Amino acid sequence: MKKGKKLYEGKAKILYTAPDKGTAIQHFKDDATAFNNQKKATIEGKGILNNRISEHILSSLNNIGIETHLIKRINMREQLIKLVEIIPIEFIIRNIATGSLTKRLGIEEGTVLQKPLLEFCYKSDSLGDPLIAREHIYAFNYCDVTALNFITKQCFRINDFLQGMFKGIGIKLVDFKLEFGKTKNTSTNEKILLADEISPDTCRLWDATSEKKLDKDLFRKDLGNLIQGYQEVARRLNILHEQSNVRPIKFSKPTEVRIKKK
Ligand code: UDP
Repeated sequence: MKKGKKLYEGKAKILYTAPDKGTAIQHFKDDATAFNNQKKATIEGKGILNNRISEHILSSLNNIGIETHLIKRINMREQLIKLVEIIPIEFIIRNIATGSLTKRLGIEEGTVLQKPLLEFCYKSDSLGDPLIAREHIYAFNYCDVTALNFITKQCFRINDFLQGMFKGIGIKLVDFKLEFGKTKNTSTNEKILLADEISPDTCRLWDATSEKKLDKDLFRKDLGNLIQGYQEVARRLNILHEQSNVRPIKFSKPTEVRIKKK
């Protein structure tokens, strides 16, 4: 499929126009960033694994009636997606306390939450994606009440499904981030679709027994080989074999790691 012009380049993905109106090509890069862009590296093979894992998860969600932007994966690094207008909110769902929640509220790392917690962050790199309340969302019109109620229900449904899916392969779904976008369907009604990606870049995934990290914390905290962690997730999801048939991937060390001192 022929890629058109670049619409947007983010930290881990690039969006290109696609031949059909209302669609786009989402390209997964090997770039990794953390701490609001202060730590950066290129990790060979990361984009391929995220493309495949995210395709698997979004297709599984489609199968249970959660509408997503995914149309199909086109190749190792690219997916054809429905073009949506992204709602500028990161929806964070947490089952176990870690990361910014422990720092912000002094909750002990690893505390199992009595019920899943949904947080909203305003999507803004320059502001460091600040935590916001439902009231901010309405006050600044990031999303209306009907849409937010719908998305809230979707978030908990997705969490339920993914928790079960990962539990079945010996992985704890600790927390994750979702993004949603608005589209117009044929009858010009607005539709809300799950967008972006769901991958070890956007989830915290711990081995159920050893609590070994299998996600981007491997990179954020220098805990080990990120590719091995992501491959382990893909292997347990039973989707690793396909990519190794396509082309053997040589994984090298990150080519660049820069940490700016504050
Ligand atoms: N997350 C993400 N993108 C972001 C911020 C968070 O994918 O811009 C994910 C992150 O991988 C984790 C969850 O959201 O699974 C909660 O992240 P947290 O707020 O703890 O972020 P931290 O500041 O610790 O990275």
